[in-house]
Amino acid sequence: MTPTSFEALPLAAPLHLVLRELNYNIPSPIQAQAIPLLLEGRDLLGCAQTGTGKTASFALPILQAIHERPKQIRPKCCRTLVLAPTRELAGQVGKSFTTYGKHIRFKQSLIYGGVGQNPQISAMRGGVDVLVATPGRLLDLIEQRAVDLSAVEFFVLDEVDRMLDMGFLRDVKRIVSLIPASRQSLFFSATLAPNIVELAQTILRNPALVSIAPETTTGERIDQQVCFLDRENKRPLLEQLLRGQAEATSGKLTIVFSRTKHGANKLAKSLCEAGFPADAIHGNKSQAQREKALERFKKGLTPVLVATDVAARGVDVKDVGLVVNFDLPNEPE
Ligand code: AMP
Repeated sequence: MTPTSFEALPLAAPLHLVLRELNYNIPSPIQAQAIPLLLEGRDLLGCAQTGTGKTASFALPILQAIHERPKQIRPKCCRTLVLAPTRELAGQVGKSFTTYGKHIRFKQSLIYGGVGQNPQISAMRGGVDVLVATPGRLLDLIEQRAVDLSAVEFFVLDEVDRMLDMGFLRDVKRIVSLIPASRQSLFFSATLAPNIVELAQTILRNPALVSIAPETTTGERIDQQVCFLDRENKRPLLEQLLRGQAEATSGKLTIVFSRTKHGANKLAKSLCEAGFPADAIHGNKSQAQREKALERFKKGLTPVLVATDVAARGVDVKDVGLVVNFDLPNEPE
């Protein structure tokens, strides 16, 4: 029987408390299925994407283990390693651990590229319970002997399909080779294509499979439109749609996906000139610029965000009422 309330899950009191504070009453399907298996120490192959509540499904059992079995951590070591494909996702997972672990004593740190490495090296000096990292910078710091993976007990690979799309297969395999064989491993992917299952088999031991129907089977509450038009009419139509959004009572925010970084910059600039405050976010922008753009967008200060597919997944922003693919997307999801 899958539990239908959090109360029915054998979670520690500080976790039940935070769930009540967050007003999480009913576990999402992946939480209801995965949490009991993870609390038993099983490996997990999860087919689910962002928005399903999968972060809590792994963060809660890991925090529970840390709470129940506190441990002295060796310098530069981590008990938990979560790998995520992008800085944004790593940041979001880190934030979730902070939120869900509010009443638990634990240390965590984040490692990702595009920012100075010294603060990340210092943060690892005393060891941490939870390290959330992107693969490239993590390997950099391992090579510099600033991070040591020999004490990992919980290993989470998040958004593996995206990680492989981004060319991280070799990095991931190298990281896996540095982690102790006796560990609990969790592997999440939005799809289970053969190459992904093959990779999972090399990492997981007798895993439980939890599969949540992907959101990509067209969200029922989302209206979709395809507009056939000539190139020169694209911008006027976009502006017309944005005027409608600006007048909406809710869902005022708009994300516009552009195929190229250059195209994103150009479009954001011309929208600003047309009176629609817009910002661009893509891989050529520094981490600070990306965070600032996302923050301003979330607050509604720049209600239009033009993005390449770096932002296509896992950006959790409320009040988005319109998503426009200005170009045919590379990534249909
Ligand atoms: P995730 O898929 O982990 O990125 O979570 C998507 C969103 O759902 C986040 O904003 C979470 O705070 C929220 N969330 C996760 N689990 C629950 C739950 N059981 N009840 C209500 N909200 C939830």
